[in-house]
Amino acid sequence: MKIPKIIEQKKQIGKPSFSFEIFPPKKEETLKNIDETLEMLCDLKPDFISVTFGAGGSVRNSKTVEIARKIKETYGVEPVVHLTCLYYSKEEIKELLKELEASGIENILALRGDRNPDYPTKNDFTYASDLVSFIKSQGDFSLSGGCYPETHLEATDAITDIRNLKKKVDAGASHLISQLFFDNELFYRFYEKTRCAGIDVPIDAGVMPVTNKAQIERMVNLCGASLPVKFEKMLRKYEDNKAALLDAGLAYTINQVVDLIANDVDGVHIYTMNNPAVAKRICDSIRNLV
Ligand code: FAD
Repeated sequence: MKIPKIIEQKKQIGKPSFSFEIFPPKKEETLKNIDETLEMLCDLKPDFISVTFGAGGSVRNSKTVEIARKIKETYGVEPVVHLTCLYYSKEEIKELLKELEASGIENILALRGDRNPDYPTKNDFTYASDLVSFIKSQGDFSLSGGCYPETHLEATDAITDIRNLKKKVDAGASHLISQLFFDNELFYRFYEKTRCAGIDVPIDAGVMPVTNKAQIERMVNLCGASLPVKFEKMLRKYEDNKAALLDAGLAYTINQVVDLIANDVDGVHIYTMNNPAVAKRICDSIRNLV
């Protein structure tokens, strides 16, 4: 089923959509472990699971489709395949689309992908909106896009970034998933601005549970999410106690998710970091809310 329809159905029963993101494992041997992860995540009955796709032409990218197919066929959960375009030609994207169509995959998160100075770009696509338009011309896929409550790092300013986001929606993206953030107020303000700009598609709030300090530091460096004072205090207090940091971090995430749901967000998208135990603890705490 296409994601906007899933969101509409959940809205009718007064609930947000609730979804997970996973990534293909880095090593071939750990691919076997993904089965266990998928089984545990699918048992939690998310509305969809999205599977990431590397920016460059990595061999792991072929695993994205394989894992998405498994999510659909073996576990009966709706998959969303991420596709990036800076390092792919139109012909290569066409081939991937054929594969997705043959696998019955209907939902694609169309992304530009991060720049990698070590690889030459293919120059067929400059922005995610180019990929959205191209996929629209090729088949009947439902297209989602990424968005940035704290503004994309390369954007000159927030207004320009939102104007660019509108171009992506006008090109055919009918659903957006946000970059992770730790301060809900930033998301609410961003959401309001998108409405003022005439963007009227559902936007899922992207939330990353804190499981260890190094991981948070890596993610924050990568995407520029700001850390609220109470969040930093928690990190500082428990940075040397893994188990305590996990408890405190999960309490923070659950609080964040409950507040988002109380504020009627369209959807909550959990960046699971392939950790089903963490996803389960969150789900157990909000089971009657989603
Ligand atoms: P775009 O929408 O193209 O925006 C990129 C920049 O260009 C922005 O600054 C924007 O303001 C500007 N821009 C856009 N359109 C125009 C225009 N027409 N004219 C001028 N400027 C414009 N990366 C991966 O490699 N693999 C993944 O699986 C992956 N998953 C992600 C999932 C989510 C939910 C999100 C939010 C991000 C994900 N990313 C992933 C990261 C993403 O690829 C990077 O953030 C990338 O830098 C931007 O991608 P985008 O699709 O948002 O780009």
